[in-house]
Amino acid sequence: MTQLDGTLSELARVRSGSEPIVSLYLDTRWNDEQQRQRVRLFVQEGIRRLLGRCGEGTPGREGLARSLERLRRHVAGLTSQQYDAARRGLALFACEALGLWRVLSFAQPFRPELCADGFPHLTQLARLADDHEPVIVVAPSPQGADLFQVSLGDLGAETRIRGFVPRRDADEYNPGPAQHGREYERVEKDERHQEAFELRNRRAAVQQLAAIHDRSPDAHLVLVGTSEAIAAFERDLPERLRARVIARIPRPRAWDRGDSGMHSAGAADGAAAALAAREREEERRVIDAVVGQSLRGGLAVMGPNDVVEALNQKRVHELVLEEDFALTGWRCDQCDAIGANAEAADTCPYCGGDLKVLRHLGEALVARAVAAGAAVEIVAHDNKLHSYRGVGAFLRQTAQGALRGASAPAWGPGAPGASQP
Ligand SMILES: [Zn+2]
Repeated sequence: MTQLDGTLSELARVRSGSEPIVSLYLDTRWNDEQQRQRVRLFVQEGIRRLLGRCGEGTPGREGLARSLERLRRHVAGLTSQQYDAARRGLALFACEALGLWRVLSFAQPFRPELCADGFPHLTQLARLADDHEPVIVVAPSPQGADLFQVSLGDLGAETRIRGFVPRRDADEYNPGPAQHGREYERVEKDERHQEAFELRNRRAAVQQLAAIHDRSPDAHLVLVGTSEAIAAFERDLPERLRARVIARIPRPRAWDRGDSGMHSAGAADGAAAALAAREREEERRVIDAVVGQSLRGGLAVMGPNDVVEALNQKRVHELVLEEDFALTGWRCDQCDAIGANAEAADTCPYCGGDLKVLRHLGEALVARAVAAGAAVEIVAHDNKLHSYRGVGAFLRQTAQGALRGASAPAWGPGAPGASQP
């Protein structure tokens, strides 16, 4: 669990009253005045659009206007500052009535988005958390290994990197008393010494790596070096660490002339590339699995109607959602249930309450899933998933499985959203 997971689930539980919650995402890689101006314009236009949508006198409008003005000033302040490579993306959530003002910055840029809704829009944040699991980059060397911790999806220091320098005494061969009095050819002796020296350093590095990994057990490993150096290092890895290796990459040429800063940057780039490749693979695997399970009648459902019903029942284990999912839906004012077909219903099929239009059903699905402790996998556009209108879900294994397909009003006290604010 990363720091960001905690922030996500906290935000997913936030609901507004009459004053909507503002969500802002920005790509803050501004290198020149033109790019800065584009960001400021995007924000200004967005504010005009949001205020234009709710007329004068609408409840919550004044608070919304003040939140938006505070946001505008914040962005104006940011765009007047130097571009900072560690701050490539900004996410901001605000609602005056709730006292909500959260500014988060990341080493990864976001797609620009400014909206006001009954709940924070979390899809981009959820995708960042999912796509940027922590990585430890390991570059074995005769002296041990350089270790770099990279967590691109974390809050605060997004690119935290720590180089590991072996202790001085491990650098030198120190003949022990056991060797005393034994005669070897000089060359043979040196080779043996060198091997023993490397073996000892490798084992020390493996121990160090294991200690770091114990503190961050979700971290993947990326090994950097020649195939021989990597193979030798991997032989000494315990099985649990070997299973975390997601890529083996050659040593970047820049490392041989660069300073340690260069090494850090190279490690971060190597980790990002390895993660991206793994993420694409993972997305394909997840889509195949969710579609396959639902076709076999297993614990998975496909399509907006079945997924929404499973979310209302808090039965979703993992939500699989296409990034360009753009359907609308409804939300019940009374019992907080959500639904996929705004046109099909006048009143809530569960409680008969009044329905509000959900302009961003996908965001509602993500917020519900995160709030219920489910995992969220946001995937790139995929034809297989798209044929189910872009959404599917793995279900929890629960006794409630018996309720599957039961008529809606059978819920009683377990009504959707009953435990939500
Ligand atoms: Zn209802």
